[in-house]
Amino acid sequence: MTSNSQQFVSDNYSGICPEAWAAMAEANQGDAPAYGDDIWTAKASDAFRALFETNCEVFFAFNGTAANSLALAALCQSYHSVICSDAAHVETDECGAPEFFSNGSKLLVAPSADGKLIPDAIRAIATNRNDIHFPKPRVVTITQPTETGLVYSLGELRSISATCRELGLSLHMDGARFANACASLGCSPADMTWRAGVDVLCFGGTKNGMAAGEAILFFNPGLAEDFDYRCKQAGQLASKMRFLSAPWVGMLETGAWLRNAEHGNACAQRLAQQIRGLPELEVAFPAQANAVFLRMPEAMVAALRSRGWRFYTFIGGAARFMFAWDAQPQRVDELASDIRQIASNESPLDH
Ligand SMILES: *Cc1c(COP(=O)(O)O)cnc(C)c1O
Repeated sequence: MTSNSQQFVSDNYSGICPEAWAAMAEANQGDAPAYGDDIWTAKASDAFRALFETNCEVFFAFNGTAANSLALAALCQSYHSVICSDAAHVETDECGAPEFFSNGSKLLVAPSADGKLIPDAIRAIATNRNDIHFPKPRVVTITQPTETGLVYSLGELRSISATCRELGLSLHMDGARFANACASLGCSPADMTWRAGVDVLCFGGTKNGMAAGEAILFFNPGLAEDFDYRCKQAGQLASKMRFLSAPWVGMLETGAWLRNAEHGNACAQRLAQQIRGLPELEVAFPAQANAVFLRMPEAMVAALRSRGWRFYTFIGGAARFMFAWDAQPQRVDELASDIRQIASNESPLDH
């Protein structure tokens, strides 16, 4: 195996997809007004409103940590709290940024077997305390698809949002891989968000095939008041905004956002199907989006690594493989073949 063979460590290993790249090249002809006053930013915002079939407020941030943190900060005061799953990226992988940008709003973490947040867990946390000494629950954040590669069904989303309404909580969706969830459910972005009761969505562009950038969509425009100032103060207002917004025009207008996600999901299926039923190997979470999580004995983990495969094992206690827009089906097959050989205890191939 050569050192530059494709790995499936993270969907962030991928490059920029042609549609995003072409739009950036087009935006790179001549000058344009700065700080979002350009036609690309207007076009991208309109493209989001068309895709989501609603007049939402749209903002652009450099990355998902900022998008999530600033969105959550917009939904609560510093004395409020945010309910999330114990697997949530905001809890495990954002270095306290949500608490930092909200000036101290506490994350209240619900134990979860598979990464999903469920209405009962939300209710238990939201009603556990109502005294002055405890930060008042105000927001729920869910990740769609989850960090464990699971997709909330529309029914699950609706029952979560009904619980939120009943308890006076706003609902935020971390959609770092939002497109993969749309592709998986085959439903419209509108059905998965505002029609299901989601107030704010962070829509990931980076993992979907862009160089950088996430969009923050407020379906309740009142919640977006002064959000532009919040972005600026946090260092998230791009001066050459057109290079954050133009790739979205390319992604949304050509349908690449969905095609890219469909490809990643299909590659996850391709791996999952080829390794089904092997001894000592367990798919830790059903592969519903673009991730496959494999639980296996340490010796197998080591054997896979010694064949040159790189992967994380700290998420969900299993080996994680992520498939991006550019995942090479032949490399997926090579991975499947190596896993099959290791699991069947066949003698390793000569390299
Ligand atoms: C990748 C990811 C993010 C964003 O991470 P950044 O590195 O800050 O762009 C947010 N949420 C989830 C679930 C992610 O997987």
